[in-house]
Amino acid sequence: MYLGVRVATANSILAQQFRWALDFWATILDLDWYEENSENCSMELIDGGRELFAAAPDIMVARSQFPDRMAFQGWIAFNPAVALTKTELYRISVHEIGHMLGLRHNPNAKSLMYDLDLDSSESLDAADLASLAARHKLRTASLSEPVTLTKLP
Ligand SMILES: [Zn+2]
Repeated sequence: MYLGVRVATANSILAQQFRWALDFWATILDLDWYEENSENCSMELIDGGRELFAAAPDIMVARSQFPDRMAFQGWIAFNPAVALTKTELYRISVHEIGHMLGLRHNPNAKSLMYDLDLDSSESLDAADLASLAARHKLRTASLSEPVTLTKLP
């Protein structure tokens, strides 16, 4: 699968963590992503406006559109009002891209798809992998072994 991604944030640190998050997903999925800086992109990273985070402007860090079809189409928005570390930007990018890939929240606090707090999130567990495998072709051979998040360079 080829995925054209537009990285349209003014935050160069976020842009870099987001690219690394895409690289992480490309180790699991049969996915090749490339930068597509036009309307033809399938996924777009943007700086969200205040209205997107109106429900909790100081707490909500990012949002994404859930795809309801196999094809990707949509945006991931970060809240510029919340200051985040590189590691947080990276983990949240992985989490939000997971939503774009069709994953829902996982009650396991170790999962990168855990909803509440990403500090202890470190892997995709068997439930995440099964859900992914139902939608996408995976590179990983085993669905029972958790896939640990790649460390930042
Ligand atoms: Zn989420």
